[in-house]
Order: sequence, then structure tokens, then C-alpha cells
Amino acid sequence: MKITHMKTNHIINPLGFDMEEVRLSYIVEDAVGKKQIAAQILVATDEAFEQIVYDSKKVFNGYDAVSGKVVSGIDNACYVLPMEVKPRTGYFWKVCVWTDADETAWSETAWFETAKGKNEEWQADFITPAVTLKNHPIMEKKLTLDKEVERARVYMVGLGAYELFVNGEKTGDEYLLPGLHVYDSWLQYQTFAINLHKGENVLEVLLGNGWYQGSYGLKPAEPCYGRQFCVIAELHILYADGTKEIIGTDESWQARESNVVEDTIYHGEIVNAMEGCDGKRYPVKKAEVPDAETAEKGNSQEFFKSKLQPRLSPYIKIQERITPTLIHTPKGEAVLDMGQNMTGWVEFSVELPQGEEICLKYGEILQEGNFYRENLRKARCEFKYISDGEKRPVRPHFTFYGFRYVKVEGWRDEWKPEDFCGCVIHSDMERTGWLETSNELVNKLFENIWWGQKGNFLDVPTDCPQRDERMGWTGDAQVFCDVACFNADTYAFYEKFGKDLAYDQTKCGGSMPFVVPMAGYNMHGATAWGEAATVIPWQNYLHFGDKHILKAQYDSMKAWVEHIRVQAANIGSKNLWLNGKHFGDWLALDGKVQGGVYGRTDAHYIASCYYYYSTTLLAKAAKLLERIEDAIIYERLAVNIREDIQEEYFTASGRLAVDTQTAYAMAAFLKLVPEKAWKRFCGDFRKKMQANNFKLETGFVGTPYLLIALSECGHFDIAYKLLLQEGYPGWLYEVKQGATTVWERWNSVMEDGSMNPQGMNSLNHYAYGAVASWIYRYLCGISLSEDAVGFRAVDIHMYPNRALEQAALKLETVNGKYITKWKYCGDKLQVELNIPFGCQACVYTPEGCVEESGYPLTLMSGCYELEFDVATDSESTWSLESDWREALENSTVRAVVEEYFPQAIRGIAFQKEMYTLGEVTGSPFAQLADEQIAALDAALRKIKYEK
Ligand code: BGC
Repeated sequence: MKITHMKTNHIINPLGFDMEEVRLSYIVEDAVGKKQIAAQILVATDEAFEQIVYDSKKVFNGYDAVSGKVVSGIDNACYVLPMEVKPRTGYFWKVCVWTDADETAWSETAWFETAKGKNEEWQADFITPAVTLKNHPIMEKKLTLDKEVERARVYMVGLGAYELFVNGEKTGDEYLLPGLHVYDSWLQYQTFAINLHKGENVLEVLLGNGWYQGSYGLKPAEPCYGRQFCVIAELHILYADGTKEIIGTDESWQARESNVVEDTIYHGEIVNAMEGCDGKRYPVKKAEVPDAETAEKGNSQEFFKSKLQPRLSPYIKIQERITPTLIHTPKGEAVLDMGQNMTGWVEFSVELPQGEEICLKYGEILQEGNFYRENLRKARCEFKYISDGEKRPVRPHFTFYGFRYVKVEGWRDEWKPEDFCGCVIHSDMERTGWLETSNELVNKLFENIWWGQKGNFLDVPTDCPQRDERMGWTGDAQVFCDVACFNADTYAFYEKFGKDLAYDQTKCGGSMPFVVPMAGYNMHGATAWGEAATVIPWQNYLHFGDKHILKAQYDSMKAWVEHIRVQAANIGSKNLWLNGKHFGDWLALDGKVQGGVYGRTDAHYIASCYYYYSTTLLAKAAKLLERIEDAIIYERLAVNIREDIQEEYFTASGRLAVDTQTAYAMAAFLKLVPEKAWKRFCGDFRKKMQANNFKLETGFVGTPYLLIALSECGHFDIAYKLLLQEGYPGWLYEVKQGATTVWERWNSVMEDGSMNPQGMNSLNHYAYGAVASWIYRYLCGISLSEDAVGFRAVDIHMYPNRALEQAALKLETVNGKYITKWKYCGDKLQVELNIPFGCQACVYTPEGCVEESGYPLTLMSGCYELEFDVATDSESTWSLESDWREALENSTVRAVVEEYFPQAIRGIAFQKEMYTLGEVTGSPFAQLADEQIAALDAALRKIKYEK
């Protein structure tokens, strides 16, 4: 038995993070026992555990018999350390676990180190160059130390963006610091452990614009937050003799010219290696006006310092490196192909004579084999480098690109593609979900979805990483959140984003911004986008079993619901949200005009449904946080909204009045269908899908729920059809068109390979990747229980289908590894399960199998092999729902159709408008009696469907 994944606040060995509440977590692996019966946590200020500051003692666990939830003792998924931590202090911790099989094991040692104390004054000032330099500045401090150094820490932030060098070496492996956050509300500072030695040392801070003061956001003409390079740093030295010294940024620092000429997030960076090495030093002064708001407040230093807070942002690092291949295009361009749409940059090391230039241009797709980047709109996405003749690794510092192809201007024949390297960057998040099925296209889609997440998890969840947006569009974030939490440990990432969101929301009086950080784009209040306030904290709580995010976001969740309540009241609507301006079912295909963006689903139906959703989540959060009064208020409000939705949008006989796929999907997903109307609703939903030949037409709102809703209604055959549909529109259409991430529009790339002429075509927009929720929860069958969160207990209810031969999921949850596998073997379905230590699963007979007695079956941790009989009627056959064109191409099916209905083939008028055999045979021109049609259907259902 071993103890792994020791995290503090969901991060391995965090240095300098906000530790107001310390939560420890770990996973027990390879145990014989089924669960932890007791545990002990030790915390010390030294690695040898001689200075123990906390000892939980051996505490026994209590579990809820039904839900499996830990009700007392140490919860390995989240143990709130009942101890206050001191500032600037390193803590070491370890845990001992006892299992019900008499095993005991101690973990290795993990650590965390705190940042400065909340009320600790800064003994440093923000400084800025006293003269305007041509290039970006380097702020420098030479230190002569006359004693050996035991330990040194720097607490600092540079604005707009910065890199710290100590004695010529870049400190740490993070990039784009201090990251993207709501800079006008909080300034995240970082902590670095650095090595200093007796004698001469030099600290250098290279400053850039970054998101803070570069061209960014929806008003890129203006710097969105600041207008002045500045840095504050406090260096704490502990000498070997036990004495201490603090050195802060002040006027003794100096500025000099760097070789970074320009950087902006959208346009890229220019580095001139010929410049910035003249050795000239310039004076610095205290920064006076770090941002516009500060100017009005007068005392800028103090005001600005008051915004400093320890970081929450997970590290942004180079996570992977890709060696490209070289393409010479028909136009004669030299283009590097990463083979993958990715986010980051290209680093290179080539021989280039002094004064000569190389320019890299980034793009996502080739057109007619040539380099293309029109879909990046105004973003120039370039990197220019002027060589000083030295060969060295070269990269940008303060920008990034979303790309697969890189055109290299100035390419030399002696260069090789291996001289270039694609550096993939994203916020640290441990991958947790893997899928393998018998369908390679599905597997590729799953990987593309993960790449979409990697490309768009850059300190905030962005819409896309390439064009002139790259912003935290809240709607996109909301719809993708469940998948993101399955794919990776995203808790720390969303915890930080939640803080941003709440800050900007406050500026909008409780309404939710369209993008967070708003970065000068102060617009808010649209449904589905606003739900980021409620859905993101809730999903993270469910997935990771840590209530902290609900506590932290509670006011924001409530403010959003209250905002809607006030909007509704303003027009005298009791419980429906019937006003406001919304994005509708963004990019749905059923819009009024072809290529329209809003879709056809009534925006106020969507708004009211989401109002209900947010209110239910708020009520649940209130209950969990023991805010009893709120829980009662919002539970009641949710009931009222639901009743009013049913009254307004369902006819007395149960027909859903909003007739779109998205409307059906939302109603079923949110369980808004009146009980007595359920059967009819399911039938109508099927007809709705059939009317479009089982092809989707949903946008950002409907897509995440469509397959789930269909499965809940018993139509998981249609869900499979949608997933496996290889033509347009569908996920596999993209895969077949060569996508390596997920596109913004269903048809961002047209069938002939050309870019959609409608514009707004990102090839790395994760929103439609939300379909992976269905893959995890239905295809592979893992559902989270609200009673025992963090996968402590799950429902395993698989929805296999012969359209695939097999599927296998591996999911590394906060409680350990789940595996669910199914495979058809003749008329049997073989199932393999792995349930991690300390967890339990309620296993249902897989859909389409003969109900076994004793099911649902509760299984404790362990590996299991189960077998089920496949119910014959679940096998896919032909039917009236079949595509008539496809049916007539199959000779057996054609013969049957001809037998019952010879006219059908010879041409019913208006056949062109029809999709299914049902439509053709049901046409008034067919002149078929219902009995004949039913007999044909019965005959067709005897023929197995094989592609
Ligand atoms: C973005 C989105 C976003 C949408 C809202 C687009 O430009 O890329 O994904 O949600 O605008 O209208």
C-alpha cells in the first residue's frame, strides 16, 4: 500500500500561495483493504519532523452506511487543517493510514510554504525607470553579500509581465507571470526560492506588457489595466549565522534597456539581440501612477500595495515540446507543422548572421496548401528576432500563440526542423481522464477535446487561444466546466478564476460579466454566460469534494440569482426571466438565417431554464453551508420557477411549446418536464430529432445537454447516432476534416477544406467539447453522487451500444482510479470495473442488457468482472427511422421496402425534402394504410443494421 497525490489546496508542494484555509488531500493505492479505518496527520516546520506543530493523533473514520460519505475522521479528499499557519514559513506534512485489512503505511513527506502575512507591511516600493527607455526595461540590483546564505526568498510582482533572473539564470520554470487576473481588484504576487551566495549577486527583472498593459480584450486600442512598467520585490535573506536581512525594491535599483523591443498578446513580440547590451544604467523612481484608478486616489503606492495578495494561479509552464516537420508550400513558403493545434510558442536555436532577421508567423490551418491566418482577424501573431550572430535558444517572453503552422520568413536551407521546437504551455493541471474505444475517430475526438482544454486553460478559461479575443468568456467556461473537471484536476485553476469572477461581478452590481477579467469591456447580464457564477463552483465541489469553492463563491452565486430575480421583478414577471439581452443558443444551426449566431430557441425560455438551474444550485450550496434561511428561500424559489416554466412552456396536454432540439435538451436535462407529460415528451423529442434526420442543430446552450437528454428519454441510440455521425454537422465531421482540437462552429471548415466564409472561425474553441460529459457519464457510465462527492460514491450506469464494440475509461479521481470497460462478446456484454480504495459504486444493469436480479448492486473498492446478456431488441436494426436513401442502397432492405411499398422507390413527389423511410411512407402520396406502414416497420426491424 502506498500514499500518493499529496496535495495542499489541490497543488503539489505549493510555494507562496494563499493559505488562508489549508486543505490537505492524498490517495491510497495498492491496498488490500477496502477503506481507511483511521489516519494520522503530522505537520512540522522541519523536514525531520522534530518541530511538530500539528498532530491529529490517530483518528478513526466514520462512514455513512448508505452514501459511503466520510462523516468523521480524516477525509483523504479534503482535510481542513485545523491550525493557523504563520507567514513566510515552510511546513512539512505526512500522513499515516490504517486500513480495514490491518495495513498501515506512512506517506512520504509533502510540503507547502506560506507567503507574506495578510497584514504584513511591504518593505519595498513599486519602482519604475525614471527615464523612458526605447525597449522594455530590465530592473536590476547588484548585491554584495559578505556572509554565506542559508535561504533566500523573493516576494514580488512585475507589471505588466515579468521574468526574474538571478545571477543570469531565469528563476523557476513559469512563464507569463503574474498571469491574467482582474488586476484592478487584486494583484497576485509570487514567491521564489532563490540561490544567493557570498559575494556578488545580481537580481534582474525583465518587464513586458503582457495582458496588463498590452493590446488585449475587446477594446485592444487601449491598455486595459496599466500604463507603466513597474516592479515591487522584497528579498528575505537568512544568513548561515542566523541573522536576517530584507532588501526591497527602492531607488538603489537601476534600469537598463533589454532587447525586447515590443510585445503584445495579440500581435506578438519583437526581440532585437543587437540592442540592450550597451551596459548603460538608468535611475529608477517610485512608480507613481500604476493605473488610472490609482491616480484619482492620490496615494498610489499605498493604494496599489493594498491590492497585493498571494497568488492562487497554478503555474503556467511548458508542459510538452513538439518537434515540427517542414513543409514547402505551393507558394514557396517554409512552414513548420506541429501536427497539432496548440498554445504556446516556437523556440529555436539557429545560426543567423549579425543583423539578420527571422520572422515567425503563426496560423491554424493551411488553405490550398499555403499558409493562412485570416481567421485570426486583427491579431498579427508574429515573432520577430534580429540576430547578434550568436546561436542561442530564442523564444518570446510576454506573448503566446494558438497555432498548428508557423511560417518562417527568412528560412535558410541549412536549418532543420529540429532546430525549432513547439513549446506547449498551459496552467498546471494533472490529467485525469483517458478513453479508448473501438472507434479511432471517437478516440481522436476525445484527445482533441483534451487538447482544447490544454490550449484554453491559460490562467483563465478562455474561448480560444489564437485570434484577437483569448478571453475568459463565461458562457464557454460554464458549458465546458464539467468536462474540464473530468479531464483534469482543475480545482485550483477554477478557485482562482472564481475570485476573478466575483471581483468583476461586484463591479457589475451582481450581474455577471460576459468576459472575466473584463479588461475594460464592461458588459454583462446574459443567460448561460452568467451561469458561470453558479455552475463552476458547484461542478468543482461535486468533482473534487472540497466545499471551499462554494464558501468562497457563495456570495457571487447568490448575487447572480438575485440579479435575475430583480430583472424579472422589474417587468412584473414573477418567476420567469423574460427580459434582458442574451446570446441565445449561440451558433446553433437552426437560426433565422443561415450562418446566424443566435439560433431559434426562445432566448427567454433559455433564460428561465437557467434561472431555475442557478437557483437550484444556490439552494444546494446554501444547504451544504448551513445557511438554512437561504436554503429555504431558494428551494422555494426554484419550485416556483419550475412551476411557472411548466405553465408557460408546456401546453395543458404536455406539448413543449418551444420546438427546438435545444429546448427539449434543456427541459430533459434540468428535469423540467411535468411528470404526466414525460412519456409524450420523450416521443416528441424523438420525432423532433427524426425531423432533422437525427442530425444536431444545437449551439453552445443545447449541445452540452443534447446527448444526455436523449439518453434520459431512452433514446441513447440517437445519442450514438449524433456522436458517430461522420458527416456535417457533428464532432466526427471535424475529426475527419483533420481537426486536432474542437472548432468554434460546426462548419468552421467547409466540406471542401476551405474556411467558412462567414468569419469568426476559431479552430480551438472548447465549447462543443462539452459532449465529453455524455461520454464520461453515459457511454462509460460514471455519475457523480451529490451525497458522497469527489467520487467517494458513484453510480455506474453504462449505456453501451453495438455501434461501438467496446469502450474503456480510466479516471483518476481525488479518491483514486476508476476503470469502467465494456465489450460486446456475441450476445454478452462483458464489463470490467475498478473501484478505488475507500469508494463504493452502485452498479446498474447496463442499458440494453437483460435486467439481472440483485441490481443495482453495491460494490466496494476492488476489481470486478461482470457479464450481462444483451437484450436482443436493443440490437440496432433497420426501421422506419432509417434514412430512406441509405435504406435503398442496401439490397436486402430495398427488397423488403419494395415488397411492402413499391411506389416508395419509384419516386414519391417531394422525396427530396424527406429524410426517413417513415416520412416517405407517411406521405399522402404514398397512400399507405397505417397497418401497412406498421408491417413494413416490423419487417425492417428484423434486419440487423450494419454499416
Ligand atoms: C467568443 C465566444 C463567446 C461569444 C459570445 C465570441 O466572440 O469567441 O466563444 O462566448 O463571442 O458572444
